[in-house]
Amino acid sequence: MPDPAPIPVFDGHNDMLLRFALHRERRPEELFAGDPKGHIDLPRARAGGLAGGLFAVFPPPLREEGPAKPITERPPTPELALDPARTSTVGMLSILLRLERAFPDGLAVCRTVAEIRAAMAAGRVAAVMHIEGAEAVDPDLAMLDVLHAAGLRSLGLVWSRTNAFAHGVPFRFPSTGDIGPGLTEAGRALVKACNGLKIMVDLSHLNEAGFWDVAALTDAPLVASHSNVHALCASSRNLTDRQLDAIRESRGLVGLNFATAFLRPDGAMRADTDLDVMRRHLDALIERLGEDGVALGSDFDGAVVPSAIGSAAGLPALFAHLRGAGYGEPLLRKIASENWLGLLERTWA
Ligand code: ZN
Repeated sequence: MPDPAPIPVFDGHNDMLLRFALHRERRPEELFAGDPKGHIDLPRARAGGLAGGLFAVFPPPLREEGPAKPITERPPTPELALDPARTSTVGMLSILLRLERAFPDGLAVCRTVAEIRAAMAAGRVAAVMHIEGAEAVDPDLAMLDVLHAAGLRSLGLVWSRTNAFAHGVPFRFPSTGDIGPGLTEAGRALVKACNGLKIMVDLSHLNEAGFWDVAALTDAPLVASHSNVHALCASSRNLTDRQLDAIRESRGLVGLNFATAFLRPDGAMRADTDLDVMRRHLDALIERLGEDGVALGSDFDGAVVPSAIGSAAGLPALFAHLRGAGYGEPLLRKIASENWLGLLERTWA
């Protein structure tokens, strides 16, 4: 008997565009057609049921001069200047638009939930434009208008570094995310502008002071697109119980990050990590957030994921494991896509 069709997944985070942008030898169109070295390409997406997701645009860091200063000693000045950030942000968005042109039956850039549902039903990967680190946005927020018009529907103020808007949490283990001050004035204005344009504000990578500033300011549900449970893995990137309670209060959502360093109790980044650690994080997220607040945020192409999954083609292994642990089909479908679509409906409406 052939395998049943995989559960369709709408995933909260991947770094495919960064991988394509950094690849020197092959064009993005060739890589998307099939590249065994990466986590996501069209054949693997189809094999594993990856039906859509937030495609992150990430302006790569410039090499820092001298030893890195602790975040608390840094002024709120960008570590990456506007110009290089604009070049890489526009470049990565262009890759996504070119893939849509090159693969009209394979990928669609989606700007509404209706477009996502239509693309998923038609077997096209439903790609939502997301930015992880707003370094390309100028203080007047003119760029935000242009990005929104291009299709941007989700934005994380920061990656794990400081910019003009906020402080990203540095990668530390063990540590809470309570490192550094909250949003700058420009950051507060950016959150309000995103609310006005109905751009989702993503809290993953933001430090704790910034998290609470956004929670007090925003009129949208709180979302961490790719973060895990601090009580199970004491990484600075993970969420404390208080943060999870605030997300629940807002009818928000957390996407489970597959990065082993944010899953394992020892904080190690290693592929030989048992899938049951993912089940334990999901159990804890469901306990804190309820069944409607939990989804996936794989970090494919941006992290070392458990080898039992290995790439987008391995998504069914996660569902098989969860089924074996007693998760029913309705809950699996919520985690796989329905909760993300519901959250985006609440945020973009
Ligand atoms: Zn990230």
